[in-house]
Formats: sequence, structure tokens, C-alpha cells
Amino acid sequence: MVWEGNPGDLFLGPYPDLFCRNLCKSLAMSSLPYLNGYPEELRNTALSLLVSGELEKRLLARYPDQHQIRSNRELNVYVQELKSQHMRKAPPLSNVAYDNRLHVVHNALGIHTTRSRVQGDKLRKRREMRIAALFKDAPPEFLRMIVVHELAHMKHADHDRDFNKLCTYMEPDYSQLELDLRLYLTVQDQQAQD
Ligand SMILES: [Zn+2]
Repeated sequence: MVWEGNPGDLFLGPYPDLFCRNLCKSLAMSSLPYLNGYPEELRNTALSLLVSGELEKRLLARYPDQHQIRSNRELNVYVQELKSQHMRKAPPLSNVAYDNRLHVVHNALGIHTTRSRVQGDKLRKRREMRIAALFKDAPPEFLRMIVVHELAHMKHADHDRDFNKLCTYMEPDYSQLELDLRLYLTVQDQQAQD
């Protein structure tokens, strides 16, 4: 993956040297599942901030807000608005909902599906989006990030360069938000284990 850090990154600073990956699987690497693929230096910094309790404090300070998008109806309005703003030409999205069964442990924060069914003599495609229910209580920035991510999948199946470009077009802070979401989930996981 390509990490393009912002120079003003509050947390961990820019990491230009992506390709220097340490092959050693340290304890830090095995205990931070959401940060797989990020440079080891970043993972080590995250781990020490996590252990000291500093990570949670910084995240709270940076993302103090809550959102009111709690029902599936509200989520649908929110997603359709973002879609019409940035992806007007993409095919319609028929069903948007929070899903309690989705969990990040299974590496799914959101999913998008396309179901085909025969209607009369036509094959109709029905596009749906499910967002993990944990985002109801997450800061608004993270909800936006995951919705942008799932919308971008309507055009690009893989997490490739074009996918990232589209995400960043819809949300200029996308890369930073993705990292911060992963840090947020890391904190949540640790609290669940305590
Ligand atoms: Zn994805």
C-alpha cells in the first residue's frame, strides 16, 4: 500500500521510506492487526502511544465530535447525498444499512454487493451497501471515510491507485482518516481486552 503522510501529521509524522520493510515479525507487528501494511516505525510509535494511553487521548482531542446518523434511513440519506455530490453517474444504490454482524475482526468495515435478479425478461442489478454498526458511535470523520471507501468500490473493485485517487477526490483527507480510523480501532480492541 502507499502511505502518503501529511507533513503536519499530528500523530506519527510522514513516512516516505515505505519500501524499507523490516522482515522481522516483532511483537508489535503481531499485536496491531489494523496497522498491517504500515511501516514498522509507525507501528512501533503507535504501540508506545497505545501502551501509555496517549493514543486514545490524542484521538479524542482530534476527533471530539459525534454524529446523529443513527438509523438506516438517516444513513441512506447521508450516503445518497455523498453519492450525488461526487458519483452522479454511478448506478443507483438501492439499499443502505448499518449491519451489526459486520465486524472489523473479519476485515470488513463495510461491504457493497451487487445482486442480480431476473425481472420479467430483464436481468436487474441491485446494489447495496452495508456499514458496520460500530460506526454509529464513531466520530463523523470515520463514518465519512468508510462511506467514501464503499462508494469508491462501486467503480473500482480493488484497492489500487485509481481507487485511492477516487477516495481522495471525495475526501481529501482520506489517507489520514484511514490511518486514524485504524488507530481508533486499535484502541477499541485494547479496551475490549482489558
Ligand atoms: Zn475495500
